Amino acid sequence: MKFIFADSLDYVDPNFDFIADRSPAERQPYWDDAYPHEVLGYAPYDGVLVSRGIVGDHRVKGKYTASQARRFHLVGVRKFLRLDKPQFAHLDIFGDCGAFTYVQDEKPPYTPAEIAGFYDECGFTHGASVDHIIFDFDPGLTGLAGGSADARQRFDITLENAEGFLREAKAMDARFTPLGVIQGWSPGSMADAARRLVAMGYDYLALGGMVPLKSPEIKLCLEAIRAAVPASTRLHILGFAKADDIDSFHGYDISSFDTTSPLIRAFKDAKQNYYLPGDGLALRYFTSIRVPQAIENPKLQRAVKKGVFRAEDLVRLETLALGSLRAFDRGAADLEETLHNVLVYSAPLVEEKPYEDCAASSSLARLAERYRTTLAERPWKQCSCKICQDAAIDVIIFRGSNRNKRRGIHNLAVYQEHIERLDLKRAVEPSDDLPRRLCAAEQ
Ligand SMILES: [Zn+2]
Repeated sequence: MKFIFADSLDYVDPNFDFIADRSPAERQPYWDDAYPHEVLGYAPYDGVLVSRGIVGDHRVKGKYTASQARRFHLVGVRKFLRLDKPQFAHLDIFGDCGAFTYVQDEKPPYTPAEIAGFYDECGFTHGASVDHIIFDFDPGLTGLAGGSADARQRFDITLENAEGFLREAKAMDARFTPLGVIQGWSPGSMADAARRLVAMGYDYLALGGMVPLKSPEIKLCLEAIRAAVPASTRLHILGFAKADDIDSFHGYDISSFDTTSPLIRAFKDAKQNYYLPGDGLALRYFTSIRVPQAIENPKLQRAVKKGVFRAEDLVRLETLALGSLRAFDRGAADLEETLHNVLVYSAPLVEEKPYEDCAASSSLARLAERYRTTLAERPWKQCSCKICQDAAIDVIIFRGSNRNKRRGIHNLAVYQEHIERLDLKRAVEPSDDLPRRLCAAEQ
């Protein structure tokens, strides 16, 4: 099973100074910063996915600057991502249209011919057809029942585009493997779309629109699709937000999925920010310790404007919390003292009150409990990745993109090993909990 990382220009500055808390003045982000595979010295994924929508253009505002988008078109995706080295030659590079970026439009802004040309010219190894997201989802519907007029229109657009996309890819003798994207409003409609994509000639399908669905709903879709297509059809899950649940998808025969989840969770999850291998085949999570920049944090700034705090007091508490954490890492401060100093600075954030006025609050107590675990177990000392070796305790401090994304990159490395262990387990004990169904054509 291939773990494809959905890139969104997630690089960090290798020369970032944690003590001074800044990058060198002459830093040029794209050129001087390092992608996960550069900072770790190896790729913590089996491939990368780039969305057309992230690159952007005059129709869809992407994340790239105009000159980055120009360079992307000029040198191609592999060189742009600095994956043009022999040690990265085995990595797949998936492209999709980033259907979330044009979800409001009546139809996708790209034509199948244009997108096929884009994938081929930019050197993608795999390219997804031009889909249009369907939002309604009803797990109880069977066959082609239900579906709003809008859902049915998007369903038709997605299939028409898939047909055109495959035709164009064949006509241009494209070097990438085309993936037909499945959209539907129910497991049955997705199975029908899958069956029609196979009939068009696709042998690799991608499930779109899975982001808002819960794991059991995704499984219903997979089960219906698996029953409708030949066993040899490969399946990819686009934007798999439930990536931590991947072990429970054992048996659905997924060839690949793309996600940003291990990276994003490092700074968007309330509790589970730092990954380590857990018992057996599980992952274990730690809460990172929030020490935001007093003069930049919007919540703290509002409190200063309202007169609840003075800016210089917040800066003093911030310095004390950071200093204590570093001293703790050196063995020069004990856990209770460090935790106390962190909590004193957390109170303005969590309760918007001075610590003395809310020391007994339940949210502060819950935070204290999670921070105590993090400090007591020192997970950053249990990891041998280059990031944890270099950044030490700074990797667990929730503060600014250089620390937060480093923690996310460490998570990618742990997650990749997690997938490898699961694959190894599967190889040893082949699953029969979901009997492979043969489609009518094969029987
Ligand atoms: Zn690490």
